[in-house]
Amino acid sequence: MSTGVIQFKTEEEIDLMRAAGRLLARAHGEVAKLVREGATTRQLDHRAEEFIRDNGATPSFKGYNNFPYSLCLSPNSIVVHGFATDEPLKSGDILSVDCGVFLNGYHADSAYTYPIGEVSLDVQQLLKETEASLYKGIEQAVIGNRIGDISYAIQHHVASKGYGVVRELVGHGVGAKLHEKPDVPNYGKRGSGPLLQAGMTLAIEPMVTLGKKDVVQEKDGWTIRTRDKKPAAHFEHTVVVRKDKAEILTSFEFIEKALK
Ligand code: MG
Ligand code: MG
Repeated sequence: MSTGVIQFKTEEEIDLMRAAGRLLARAHGEVAKLVREGATTRQLDHRAEEFIRDNGATPSFKGYNNFPYSLCLSPNSIVVHGFATDEPLKSGDILSVDCGVFLNGYHADSAYTYPIGEVSLDVQQLLKETEASLYKGIEQAVIGNRIGDISYAIQHHVASKGYGVVRELVGHGVGAKLHEKPDVPNYGKRGSGPLLQAGMTLAIEPMVTLGKKDVVQEKDGWTIRTRDKKPAAHFEHTVVVRKDKAEILTSFEFIEKALK
């Protein structure tokens, strides 16, 4: 969880964050080209770091509280904060790839969960509905609403499909720091929490479980896994709170292009 006060951004700062978001979208696209059966998450991590540094930026996560990788790579029952490994991905797996880019003093943060090869229908549905819940949350990220409106929209969508919503981890403000105020929980009450105002930039990131919502942390101090070992999905965008419609600074367009 983040500390401090909400950092409101000027349009000039948002321009810098937009550039970070574009580079992050392209970094995700480079990783997407390599995501397949037989690939290892270490290969994905290397490619992301190389691409980000080649473009004059820094991977936000590497070294953050001593996190050892440029990507958080979280297969199957790992919800978030998984480490890169040499174990090949196999058909039927899913993999959350979370990436942050730090460019010209500002971070952008986004995540996408991939199906690998042939994935069971119930897990395909989990991915589809988790991504849908992200956009339900983003729809609420407008001036005059409250954080709880985002939280409620996400929770309402995934609960209506019978899924669990992780409580221990939340979205967040993002900007000059990777994690800023306010927290953006994926559960909550409409009309509650901090007021959404011009200049707020948020990372909205539903973490949704096929089974129960309970999670455990592994001994490495990072990896978060579902207690019941059932799969979990994670999608994230960095957005700007705007008057009628939030502006999304990150994008899955290069991922979607690579997957075609
Ligand atoms: Mg992230
Ligand atoms: Mg985040």
